Amino acid sequence: MKIVYPHMGYMWICIKAMLEYLDVEVVVPPPSSKKTLLLGVKHAPEFACMPLKLNLGNFMEAAELGADTMVMAGGCGPCRFGYYAHVEHAILRDLGYQYQLVVLEPPQKHIGELLGKIKHITGHQSWRKVINGIRFGYHKAEAVDELEKTANYCRPREIKPGTTDRALQAALKEVIAADTPEKLPAARKRAFEIMRSVPVDRLRPVLRIGLVGEIYTLLEPFTNQDIERKLGGMGVEVDRSIYLSEWINEHLFLGLVKNKRSSKTAREKAVKYLGHFVGGHGLETVGNTVLYAEQGYDGVIQMLPFTCMPEIVAQSILPRVSTETGIPTMTLIVDEQSGEAGLVTRLEAFVDLLARKKQTGEVLA
Ligand code: SF4
Repeated sequence: MKIVYPHMGYMWICIKAMLEYLDVEVVVPPPSSKKTLLLGVKHAPEFACMPLKLNLGNFMEAAELGADTMVMAGGCGPCRFGYYAHVEHAILRDLGYQYQLVVLEPPQKHIGELLGKIKHITGHQSWRKVINGIRFGYHKAEAVDELEKTANYCRPREIKPGTTDRALQAALKEVIAADTPEKLPAARKRAFEIMRSVPVDRLRPVLRIGLVGEIYTLLEPFTNQDIERKLGGMGVEVDRSIYLSEWINEHLFLGLVKNKRSSKTAREKAVKYLGHFVGGHGLETVGNTVLYAEQGYDGVIQMLPFTCMPEIVAQSILPRVSTETGIPTMTLIVDEQSGEAGLVTRLEAFVDLLARKKQTGEVLA
């Protein structure tokens, strides 16, 4: 069995570590690119959201590297995500790919089924080893998240442009190279030493923007056109409302790890504006915008793939949140037509507005 799973930012690092620790062969598809997207766009339904198209491209590229089993998360609820694994599998089968499909359904609703699938993937491994493997993957996700957060702090303050990005890549290499749980703490320490070596001006005034929206778009730099890096280069410190380890803790560990940011607070904040679950992260998008306003952020950017239903609901509510809380918001919708120049222009205009508002205390219309 040679397993492939779709790219979603740096998720590949933690799943690869976990599966290889459990002696499962993994095929990591090439990073998502224009080619990946073109493959997906060619074979996916036109109105499917961009994550489906990229997933499809990832699976097609991985098949050339020998992958034979695709692992996808399942889902339930108003958005289409729950169907995607099956739709992708059917498209690939029609195209002649011989993939075996394993869908990991959310544990809240299907714990027995999920455990059975884990056993199927990991074969003869004991539950004790499986748990250690999951813990190893989780600790890698935590390390990667912390490195990304440090990079988001350093970028707008770096003294020499580009040093943060180079340091981040070097630091990630350290974490990736740790192939056992025992080696991870030392690798993590080296990685943070690399990040600490980035010369920064801690007194430089920066703008702070919160990123909210659909999880895949927020986590996958190819989809969001590296928005965190672009904003960092414009002198903005970015906080992403969802990090992978937080999502794992909440949805797979059911909040077992304490002192982690949880989406519960955001959902509570959203109630005033949206009283029910709309699928995906629609509720969290609304609630996190309120939270960012309360925390004194200068602005919020919502990102969503074209046709994403939960985020369209949230998008229609954000103007009211913005008016009532005073935080400026901007929505960016991405699809295969999105160009880099357009995104940069919009980001620059938004950042200019926020800077002016900060300087003059002006209220934006
Ligand atoms: S959350 Fe949005 S982008 Fe993701 S599957 Fe659902 S509709 Fe598509």
